[in-house]
Formats: sequence, structure tokens, C-alpha cells
Amino acid sequence: MSRKALLDDCFLHDKDRLRHQEALEILKSRMSAVADTETVRIEDGLERILAEDIAAPRNIPLADNSAVDGYAFRHSDFDEAGGFFRLQQRIAAGHASDADLGPWAAARIFTGAVMPPGADTVAMQEDCETHQQDGQDFVIVPQGLKTGANCRKAGEDVAEGTTILSSGQLLRPQDLAAIASTGQAQVNVFRKLRVALISTGDELRRPGDLITVGDVYDSNHFLLRGLCATAPVEFEDLGILKDDANLVEETLRKAADRFDVILTTGGASRGEEDHVLQALDTLGRCHMWQLAIKPGRPMMFGNIGSCVFLGLPGNPVAAMVCFLLYARPVLSVLAGGSFLEPQRFQIPAAFDVPKKKPDRREFYRGFLGTSDSGQTTAHKFARDGSGLITGLREADGLIEIPEDVTAIQKGDPVTFLPFSGFGIR
Ligand code: AMP
Ligand code: MG
Repeated sequence: MSRKALLDDCFLHDKDRLRHQEALEILKSRMSAVADTETVRIEDGLERILAEDIAAPRNIPLADNSAVDGYAFRHSDFDEAGGFFRLQQRIAAGHASDADLGPWAAARIFTGAVMPPGADTVAMQEDCETHQQDGQDFVIVPQGLKTGANCRKAGEDVAEGTTILSSGQLLRPQDLAAIASTGQAQVNVFRKLRVALISTGDELRRPGDLITVGDVYDSNHFLLRGLCATAPVEFEDLGILKDDANLVEETLRKAADRFDVILTTGGASRGEEDHVLQALDTLGRCHMWQLAIKPGRPMMFGNIGSCVFLGLPGNPVAAMVCFLLYARPVLSVLAGGSFLEPQRFQIPAAFDVPKKKPDRREFYRGFLGTSDSGQTTAHKFARDGSGLITGLREADGLIEIPEDVTAIQKGDPVTFLPFSGFGIR
């Protein structure tokens, strides 16, 4: 489909608009990492995108060690009746012993302490009895322990040389723990993307300002700030732009020199008061506009020189849906990560939709419930208006209805995209 067809036809039918999957293909094919890399301490690595592969330089753990507080012994000394062992040494965590365990001997050992040479099995202290005879301590170990019980082997978490993390991975708390376990104190990560946030509309006011009839508070700015906080970006608020063609063009031109990405909301249609698309056309290129989805039809993707342009619709529901589906994966790729796909679960619908328009993909605000039989079901927020922030708050995620579906009956499986899969709650 040519770009001209995409841009010029205001009376396009859904079947002629770009489909969700086609939009994703365009975004995937035109995008690569733009961010440089920098080195940070691992304590500053959370939610950053790794720019190196990390391998274990040695076994983790380094040596065989006890998983419990108890008694370490040689399993071959054990017979079916259990064991009666001379207590020979005491080994605490951080105090490895290199003394060999003699035959029929056991070592008092604590969780994390290195196994003494010769020992291969540990009995838990709760299961053992100690006993003194002629000034010598003994321990009685019950039967039934397998060789190697309660002993953690060297390298059982990660064997020396194994790659544990690859470039492009988003660092989670458990990843930082893994890096720390290799002994590495710093990591090479991609620099955060510089993103300009712009709201557009004569009617918009910031919270704290007075409003009169016809004005609307700029909720999207705060929505997008929050969404950006879950992405590897640092953003700057460029405020609210009046619906003035020259002002919009001038602001975008200047921002394109300073930012990796410009993220706008509003003014994205072809109305006389919508100037964003025109400005993008003048300053750079629009690669995508007008999608066959609901909500969120006017979603722009383009570039002004090396700056990527993402133009979200003005209605808050559409802005959030388009951010999650399109802007989020784009920001991830530009920031050195992967093209993030949402998690999808098939869940029976708890609602009917007697008639849905074909040829477009719809995203309802959805929340989970439980049926009388205890099954998880997907509920739809009852009202569809794309200005209803209430529905976004009620939802646990989005329900995705494909283009070819024209009706839904209670019990039909529907695709549920939990917000948690988008990194939000
Ligand atoms: P537009 O895309 O500019 O035509 O705006 C579509 C609808 O979204 C209008 O009702 C706007 O008032 C509303 N809107 C646009 N921008 C915002 C915003 N930043 N916050 C809340 N509502 C907005
Ligand atoms: Mg507007």
C-alpha cells in the first residue's frame, strides 16, 4: 500500500486501512537501536537495557556447600540402619576447612559452608541426635538419605563460562542479582533515549490552572509520563502546544534536533485544527497513519531527520492503547532492546457483543473475574467511549478482538493482554 493512499484518503474504509499486524511489521522493519552505550554500577542498572553479554567467569556457587544446618558425612560410610559418626570438625559459612573427613566421621556444618573434602551428603540437624561417649562427640544420622542430599554442587546455579545475560535484555531485579553473583560490579548498558513529550490542543490546561467551559485538563501528559517511566527513556516535558500550524511546525523542528524521539498526543487527525500530520509531512516523513483499529485510528509514525516521531491520538484511551501496542515496542528497539510483544492469554468471555464491525481490530478495556464454576473469565468495561479514563482504571488489561470476528458470545475464548505484560499494573 503506498503512503499516498495511506495519507490522502480521509474516507478510507477499515478494510483499506493499515491493519494492526501490518503496522507492527512496518515498525519492526524500520527500526534499530539509536542509543550509545555507557557503563553504570549494577545498583543503577535496574530497567536499563544491557549492551554486553555476561558470562560466569567461574562456577556459581564456587564450591560444593551445605544447603542446611546439619552434619556432613560420606554416604558410602552409611548403611541401611543409618550412621553413627564421630564428630570431627565444625565448619561455618565463610570458613572453609581443608581437613579431610576421616572414615565414619561427620562434620558439624551450617548453611552455605563449604563441604569438607571427602563428604558428599548432609543430614539436617532436626533429624539427627548427638551423643557423647568417653569425651568424644558422636552424631546419629537416620536412614533414608540419598547420596548428595542437602548438598549444593559447585556450578549448580551457573557453570563456569555459561552466558547468563545477552545484550538487549532489560535488567530486572533478578538479573542484577545474577550479575552480582558473577562478581561483576559494573555493566555496560544503552544510554536512555531522550524523549520529548508534547500535548496539543487549544482546549488543554494543566492541573492547577483554572478551566472554563470547553477546556479540558491535560490528562494524557500524566498518562504518558507514567508510561514512559516504565520504558528505558528520559523525557522532557515540552508542554502544551496551541493548535497553531506555525507553532506546531516550529516546535517539532527544534525538538527534532535535541531528542531521539518526539511523542505527541492529540491533533493527529486531518481536521482543520489538527496540525501535527502536516508539520510532520513538511519537516520529515510520515511512514504510517490511519490504522484499522479501535480505539486509536490516527496513530502516526514517522521521522524528522534522525529523530523518530510518534504521534498518539488525543483521546486518553486511544493514547494509552497506542502507546502500549506501538510506542512501547518502538522505544524498546530504539533503546537497544527487543520489539516487545504483549503477553496473550485465551480466556472465556463473560460478555456478549452481538455485532462488531469487520476489518478492524478492537481493544476493549478488560478485567478478570471468576465464573460460578471457578473458571477465570474476561469481562469488558461496559462503556466504549475512548475518552473514559474510568475504563482504563477499572481494567486489568486489554481484550483484543481480531479483524475477522463480527460477534462474540459468552463463553467464546477471547484474547486477554494483561497490563502486567506491558510493564504496568
Ligand atoms: P484530537 O486528537 O486533538 O482531535 O483530540 C481528541 C480528543 O481528545 C478531544 O476531545 C481532546 O479534547 C482530547 N484530548 C486531546 N489531548 C488531550 C490530552 N492531552 N488530555 C486529555 N484529553 C485530550
Ligand atoms: Mg486537538
